[in-house]
Amino acid sequence: MLIFCVMTIDFHTHYYPPCLARRALRGVDDVVEGDADGTLAGLENAMRGAGVKLAVALPVCGRPGHERTVNDFVLNTHGNGIIPFFSVHPHSENAPALVREYADKGLKGVKFHPNMQNFVLGDPCLVPLWRAVRDAGITAVFHCGRPGRTPTDLDVYPSDFLPLFDILCPERTVLAHTGGYGITDKELAVLAGCGAYADLSLASSQFTPERFCHVLSVLPADRLLFGSDSPWRDIRANLDFVSSAVRDKRTLDMILHANAEKLLFGAE
Ligand SMILES: [Zn+2]
Repeated sequence: MLIFCVMTIDFHTHYYPPCLARRALRGVDDVVEGDADGTLAGLENAMRGAGVKLAVALPVCGRPGHERTVNDFVLNTHGNGIIPFFSVHPHSENAPALVREYADKGLKGVKFHPNMQNFVLGDPCLVPLWRAVRDAGITAVFHCGRPGRTPTDLDVYPSDFLPLFDILCPERTVLAHTGGYGITDKELAVLAGCGAYADLSLASSQFTPERFCHVLSVLPADRLLFGSDSPWRDIRANLDFVSSAVRDKRTLDMILHANAEKLLFGAE
């Protein structure tokens, strides 16, 4: 019997304008296992079906200078159960100023995607951007690992973030997909010791139950965030997978909501 907490927070979701949703879903080199259609209504349905109360929506601006279009859509449409993050393209000329602007509007976090945004974490030109993120006191979520089924030169794993943590606060940084699809034991050890959060989106397709139990035994429980990557993955299926692997109720509560509440609302 699985325990579904009414306060469950999904820290990794996406949705798109209805006219673009189908194209967005097909535009990623990955299977679609979720039952959401890529729209806000689809996400809200999937949340209801899984008993998820809050979801962090992560837009990604794929081209420099297109932040307004991408962010305004999420900011103008999000419902009560959605916590909108924003996106800034690291190669946009005014990227640090945009971070300050959106943070001043009260947004709680920003999403970066090295593969889709075609940037290198250690690019010295990006130091002002990382400083702006740190100074704004917001959370930064980074896509980690390959972007879909095929590895690329821009795939990043936890050790790639260590130099960045001279600037960014690890305790306000989330490494998505448990540090990246195909994470090795060596990278897992780096993730365990670096102080950053990891979201567990893609866990059900990334790990066998046995491997996932090992991953959970290595990573600190106070740094894990439940996530699904809806609409690419089914929220309910990932929730079942995570809940089945965590026997201790207190740990499950931390993963499903308490850690996210601390990060999003400063709750203890
Ligand atoms: Zn995602």
